[in-house]
Amino acid sequence: MFHKILPVGVLQCNCSVIGDEQTHEAMVIDPGDQVEEILDILRQANLKLKYIVVTHAHIDHVGGAMKLKAATGAPILLNQNDLALLKMLDMQAAWIGMRSPGAVHVDESASEGQKLQIGNIVSQVIETPGHTEGSICLLFPAEKKLIAGDTLFAGSIGRTDLPGGSFDKIMRSLHTQIMALSDDIEVVPGHGPFTTIGEERETNPFLNG
Ligand SMILES: [Zn+2]
Repeated sequence: MFHKILPVGVLQCNCSVIGDEQTHEAMVIDPGDQVEEILDILRQANLKLKYIVVTHAHIDHVGGAMKLKAATGAPILLNQNDLALLKMLDMQAAWIGMRSPGAVHVDESASEGQKLQIGNIVSQVIETPGHTEGSICLLFPAEKKLIAGDTLFAGSIGRTDLPGGSFDKIMRSLHTQIMALSDDIEVVPGHGPFTTIGEERETNPFLNG
């Protein structure tokens, strides 16, 4: 599996470009910014974009989605429970002193258990509300990889003090959905260094207390 991770934008969101090297189908997860660089990666690896997946409707994760869609024709997938938050992008832009990317139009909801397939690579949507109402993670079971959005970080968890956030919900999502995964799953958080489920089970102060 082709997997390139590009930290994008002022908040350095980990954008993933994932491709099947046999069929050249690809998905991009969380294109927050730097769309030209994302397009360069796709071109250089000879990948054709099939899905734009957004783990949640924060501007640093969704900011470049429309531009990427315009350049590739790929549909944007976001969980429907984040559509209200998606309408607040202007306000989110003001919070972090960024220019608003304008309205984002979602093509399809990404919902619990939904399978997103590129070539021979299968990923599965896991709904993990808490950081936002519609936060999702994307699991690649065969590749033992989890794209965690802002639900789980190395040594920490997503903040829940922004609109739509809930500490109770993120803790429930982590315990029932994420910590149910096996220790050898590699985790790519929405920001910062990579980790594993086992490492977090053992050392994350929010999860092992
Ligand atoms: Zn976020």
